[in-house]
Amino acid sequence: MKVTVDQDKCCAAGTCVLIAPEVFDQREDDGVVILLDTAPAGNLHAAVRECAAVCPAGAIHVGEDA
Ligand code: SF4
Repeated sequence: MKVTVDQDKCCAAGTCVLIAPEVFDQREDDGVVILLDTAPAGNLHAAVRECAAVCPAGAIHVGEDA
């Protein structure tokens, strides 16, 4: 799994941080997402996919490794 985020799209809702705090954090000043782990371990994949699905800004992209 390869995770990317678009910080320009992120509306700082924080949903991803609630669902997968191991992978996502937020900037202290404006709440925009910070990607902590671009290649999360298998046990986090379901949570990361959920984040991508529920992100109100569509700012999280999940790709699969080749
Ligand atoms: S859920 Fe989406 S909009 Fe909200 S903080 Fe995460 S990336 Fe940004």
